[in-house]
Amino acid sequence: MTTKTRFAPSPTGYLHVGGARTALFSWLHVRKHGGKFVLRIEDTDLERSTAESVNAILEGITWLGLEYDEGPFYQTQRFDRYNKVIQELIDQDLAYYCDCPKERLESLREQQMQRKEKPRYDGHCRARQIDPEKPHVVRFRNPLEGGVVVDDLVRGRVIFRNEELDDLVIRRTDGSPTYNLTVVVDDSDMEITHVIRGDDHLNNTPRQINILQALGKTPPRYAHVPMILGDDGSRLSKRHGALSVMEYRKQGILPEALLNYLVRLGWSHGDQEIFSLDEMIELFDIEEVNRAASTFNNDKLLWLNQHYIKHDDPARIAHLLSPHLGDLDIDPASGPNLVDVVIAQQERARTLVEMAEISAFFYKDFDAYDEKAARKHLRPVARDVLERVRHVLAEMTVWTPESLHQAVVDIAESLELKLGKVAQPLRVAIAGRAASPGIDVTLHLVGQQACLRRIDKALNYIAQRATEN
Ligand code: GLU
Repeated sequence: MTTKTRFAPSPTGYLHVGGARTALFSWLHVRKHGGKFVLRIEDTDLERSTAESVNAILEGITWLGLEYDEGPFYQTQRFDRYNKVIQELIDQDLAYYCDCPKERLESLREQQMQRKEKPRYDGHCRARQIDPEKPHVVRFRNPLEGGVVVDDLVRGRVIFRNEELDDLVIRRTDGSPTYNLTVVVDDSDMEITHVIRGDDHLNNTPRQINILQALGKTPPRYAHVPMILGDDGSRLSKRHGALSVMEYRKQGILPEALLNYLVRLGWSHGDQEIFSLDEMIELFDIEEVNRAASTFNNDKLLWLNQHYIKHDDPARIAHLLSPHLGDLDIDPASGPNLVDVVIAQQERARTLVEMAEISAFFYKDFDAYDEKAARKHLRPVARDVLERVRHVLAEMTVWTPESLHQAVVDIAESLELKLGKVAQPLRVAIAGRAASPGIDVTLHLVGQQACLRRIDKALNYIAQRATEN
């Protein structure tokens, strides 16, 4: 049988990191075993589902590169199919109509709570004949005895007793099918072999298995993945920082870094931290996923991101960096080749946002100097140095990192200064800050005209400062 997993988000928000990790595990399982990854949009909650959310989820999945082989299937387009199955269950007396009024269910619940029992439907309508023309719900006739064994690939064997489960509503009064029914029909119709999902669904599993068995279907294998906690030990939520996958993109995280980070949330392979996609596919095993919850650690994500920024192909980084420069109103076509800029900056940024910020000066004149850097390096003593540099640079006919390096070295020698005494004021003049790639590369990429313009600006600044003091 072909291995098939599915990612089945409810489109009621963005794609969050928890969902992305579940999707990644499902995707890896399929890529490893050679099968199909299905995307299913569980949009039956008409009030909370939105088209924007569907788009946000698709966008997140696409950005991460978790391409799906089938779908997206939309549950709202499958109501006829669900109703057909519900009718089949009714016809075989495996489901029944129930018209218990809300008041009755509420008082039943209160009594059970008072007796410290788990609230559950008491089967009142099991044997009643109800006119289907009148308002009703449909309930699944859950077995009264015995139990359901779930051999979960992550949790191990979990046993549920049927007496703990009640006759669950599978179609509401308004005619809409409920979650447990739609999931069962879809998992069965779509021939899902492995259901990998968050362990908040573990309690639904025995119900789903009972319905599948009533329909004469073999249940898939289940793997319930533990939840993700924030650094304070509580369930990961917005107050711990970004949750949305696309928010990470905005913050300048690379998709490969986020994937690498997510795969390590609850899974490990010795003490290896860095996994290429191919390695993940080769090494990941759903059965090795930890039972315990894992903790989200933003510093580690940044550490991985920095690793990928340093080691990825510069052309790829350039491609991903472009939109972040766009956010700063910079058109990368308006200056030096972006790949050269990336090569110069690869060691210096933890995120693409940082890289864009420290690279902006290659493309446009900055508005203001970094205050500390200017105070330290653009002082009257730097005036002679910068005037000399300006003179030399203006005369240069060959503008290469090598010729520029030589020029700076010669100037330092002729002025009997250490190299830094020339390079630092020059750097602040050109980059606006005390840190940049090597001065030769920096000058080269900024270009002759812009360099001269910025040295003039620095000289003005020094002159102005002198009059202020
Ligand atoms: N739609 C469900 C959710 O987003 C997932 C259901 C499932 O994986 O079975 O929580």
